[in-house]
Amino acid sequence: MEGEEKKRRLSKDSMRKATRIYKYIKPYWLSFTIGIVMITLSGVFTLLVTRLWGQLGGVGVQDAGAGADVRGFMNLNIDFTSLSSIGVAIAILLVVQAAISFTRVILFARVTENMMLALRKDTYEKVIRMPMQYFNEKRVGDINSRISADITSIQDVFTTTLAELLRQLIIIVGGILALLYFSPTLTFIMLGTLPVMIIVAIIFGRYVRKLSKLTQDKVSESNVIVQETLTGIVNVKSFANEFLEMTRYIRSVTDIRAYALKGALWRGVFASFIILFIFGAISLIIFKGADLMTEGDLAKEHFFTFLLMTGLVAGSIGGIASQFGVLQKGIGAIENVMDILDLTPEDIDMSPAAESSMRLQGDIAFKDVNFQYASREEIHVIKDLNFMIKAGQQVALVGPSGAGKSTIASLIQHFYVPVSGEITFDDKDARSYELTALRRQMAYVPQEVLLFGGSIRENIAYGKPTATDDEIRKAAQQANAMEFIARFPDGLDTLVGERGIQLSGGQRQRIAIARAVLKDPTILILDEATSSLDSESERLVQEALDKLMIGRTSIVIAHRLSTIRNADLILVLEDGALKESGTHSELIAMDGLYTKLVNLQQSNR
Ligand code: ATP
Repeated sequence: MEGEEKKRRLSKDSMRKATRIYKYIKPYWLSFTIGIVMITLSGVFTLLVTRLWGQLGGVGVQDAGAGADVRGFMNLNIDFTSLSSIGVAIAILLVVQAAISFTRVILFARVTENMMLALRKDTYEKVIRMPMQYFNEKRVGDINSRISADITSIQDVFTTTLAELLRQLIIIVGGILALLYFSPTLTFIMLGTLPVMIIVAIIFGRYVRKLSKLTQDKVSESNVIVQETLTGIVNVKSFANEFLEMTRYIRSVTDIRAYALKGALWRGVFASFIILFIFGAISLIIFKGADLMTEGDLAKEHFFTFLLMTGLVAGSIGGIASQFGVLQKGIGAIENVMDILDLTPEDIDMSPAAESSMRLQGDIAFKDVNFQYASREEIHVIKDLNFMIKAGQQVALVGPSGAGKSTIASLIQHFYVPVSGEITFDDKDARSYELTALRRQMAYVPQEVLLFGGSIRENIAYGKPTATDDEIRKAAQQANAMEFIARFPDGLDTLVGERGIQLSGGQRQRIAIARAVLKDPTILILDEATSSLDSESERLVQEALDKLMIGRTSIVIAHRLSTIRNADLILVLEDGALKESGTHSELIAMDGLYTKLVNLQQSNR
């Protein structure tokens, strides 16, 4: 069917995994069971109504009195010879069935929506608590599709598919039993022909659809040629390649014709197949039924019922195939979601903004730290790194691209755990702190600030969700952001657009700084922007950063060496190892890698 959709094969293992969804149904098992009973009733009612329709037909064509002897299975103890009493019975059945179906739909929707709520919550919570390594290995789109598409597939299964499968199964089994009761001979003829033909028709239909999809693909290909040629018309003309392009197009459109004709051929065969074999099978059944009736072996109302019920059973056989496809997809989706629920997340405290009483001094030390990313174990990213940062110091990380500066920033934030060695805060191993409490003591201002799509106010408050309006304004002021915010007609309520695209780079950075101000961290990690801001904007950002750094341990990933001359400590890295460390003047005196980097930047100006 849908070519690109990857469907997992149903296996014992996948079925076992899928049954774990039971945990989510369990709280609603009573409603679920009542729903199942209602579907069963609804299926039985459909059969009964069909039976009564047949009775109507039978009574309509025969003398009163005939057919009164029909008792037993599918024969209700009512006056079966009177059209009006049959009509009343049908009306009652339909009303009851309508009420049952309504209740069933509502019941199932309730059960499913509650299940989905719990499942969505658990999945998202698991994903959001995963360590950074998980996000390195997965694509955002994949995770996103698991949370949305897979859960929608599961929802489909529980709202409609299971119910439909059960109802159709009841109709098929109940229907065939009833048919056998009316006329075993006719039933065997029916079963030997119609279901076989229906199944062949379904497979055939899929093939025909696949062919028409191929034709569509070819049409898109030819559209691409036209698009490419016309947008690149200057190239076509200057190379005088009109002939070449025409040949390419003709080849493509000739392909379209070939595929379309092949499709038409099979569509034709399909139509003939339906007429000859499906309609043929129906004719055979009617013919044989009529024959049995004239022989007196089949009551008229049974004949009519037989025809109607055959239609019902045939429809259900056709329907069950597509429901089965949806079920298969749903089981795959359950497996995917269960895989997520099996992951081991970081030890994050999920209580709402639990104010932590823990307050760090701000001493940081790396002791013999070695690290490599799990996704690329062959590269030894950090090698035997040792350094000490005292509380309140301003430290710069310097080094060529790929030296490991960002990795050190990530290690400080405990996004990753060192492979060996120890990182300490206030002389205590990072692992002895509660992860959430530790991260609440830090703020990170990235190079490329990505804002969330709400208002400026919401974006600043991200640093402290409980902040008052006054605190937000003060933070914006301190970050030199208030002057541009005040110029927007909506002030703090200005919407920043998706990812903050409606703001300039410098403005976004100042919002990120305001966020950090609100968080009031002990440790500040700044990734200096590489993309150059205009000098006024740069001055405002730098000034805000300088204010923010006062009284905090700050680690600056420096790309422009001119900004870090006053740093208390400069760590010069190369290939994950510490090459030099000291103040600007000490390092210049050493005349080593740092001096080389400084000279290189100056000569590039
Ligand atoms: P730049 O100045 O270019 O940002 P950097 O000094 O910050 O560089 P890092 O980003 O820390 O360097 O990278 C150090 C090494 O680690 C590089 O070889 C890089 O390819 C590798 N690396 C970085 N991030 C990952 C990751 N998520 N997974 C695997 N390898 C990574």
